[in-house]
Amino acid sequence: MKIAPSSFTNQPCLIDGKAAAQEVVAAVKAAVEQEGLRPGLAVILVGDDPASAVYVRNKSRRAEECGFLSQQFSLPADTREEALLQLIARLNGDPAVHGILVQLPLPGHIDAHKVIQAIDPRKDVDGFHYENVGHLATGGLTEALVPCTPLGALFLIKQVLGESLRGLHAVVIGRSNIVGKPMASLLLQHDCTVTIVHSRTLSPEAVCRQADIVVAAVGVPGLVKADWVKPGAVVIDVGINRIDQPGGDTRLVGDVDFDGVKTVASAITPVPGGVGPMTIAMLMQNTLNAARRSRIQQATAG
Ligand code: NAD
Repeated sequence: MKIAPSSFTNQPCLIDGKAAAQEVVAAVKAAVEQEGLRPGLAVILVGDDPASAVYVRNKSRRAEECGFLSQQFSLPADTREEALLQLIARLNGDPAVHGILVQLPLPGHIDAHKVIQAIDPRKDVDGFHYENVGHLATGGLTEALVPCTPLGALFLIKQVLGESLRGLHAVVIGRSNIVGKPMASLLLQHDCTVTIVHSRTLSPEAVCRQADIVVAAVGVPGLVKADWVKPGAVVIDVGINRIDQPGGDTRLVGDVDFDGVKTVASAITPVPGGVGPMTIAMLMQNTLNAARRSRIQQATAG
């Protein structure tokens, strides 16, 4: 469903990530039923970080809701790297498992790069394996498994602006491997003119003011102010920052000064309720795609 951006005076279109995520999950569920597939998602958690435990539980629940075979492996914090690699090797060889996700961060004694590269790229539903990074960077979108957060952000951008983003200037703030760089690659492949702003960029606000689309993925609360944004731009806030409140409470805010920027932007995502819910929804979409490709591969091999 495409939603129309409002005129940019005081009535920005609030992009509803929760509703969009529900739409994606409903479509995945319907596809699973119609195609008679049973996608399998294995989620591995090492250690007892409470935030990671919540993320993993939510991913497993969503997978069950989609009709997937959902497996969760909770390993103690002192798990040896070798044991984790053995589990991944077993899941790589299990035909019922189409997606393997290792929740990051891992405890310090485990080499996260080594672990991610050990996942069969066809099952790498986070899209972090070099093979998937390479497919994305070289335009092989049909072969790639693309990182879920940028994929979710792109979905929201297209809801507002439609399928064609040709010629639009997109500024991505942040150059991480999990958000900024894959986001820039995706926008480039949608024919945007892409600029990446990062911690060493001179006059980031002046660069940002040229953008038709701003994607902020930094981790600095309220960095993007109203005077960074061109009137009418579409603003996607990936940041999730927990800040202290008077009285000892905390609350979540993004990288965008929402109250200021909403007076300038034509459309904006809130935090929470914007990009956040899309990440898990796109994980479901990636797992479905992995299961579909596996079925095609089996059919052609047999
Ligand atoms: P990161 O720390 O790996 O990368 C941050 C990037 O921001 C770096 O590339 C750095 O160059 C850039 N940066 C830092 N300070 C800057 C500044 N002052 N001006 C311009 N650029 C600056 O972070 P990440 O993993 O990419 O995550 C970014 C944010 O997105 C975090 O708040 C994170 O919690 C959030 N996040 C949200 C989701 C989601 O599901 N919505 C998923 C992943 C990350």
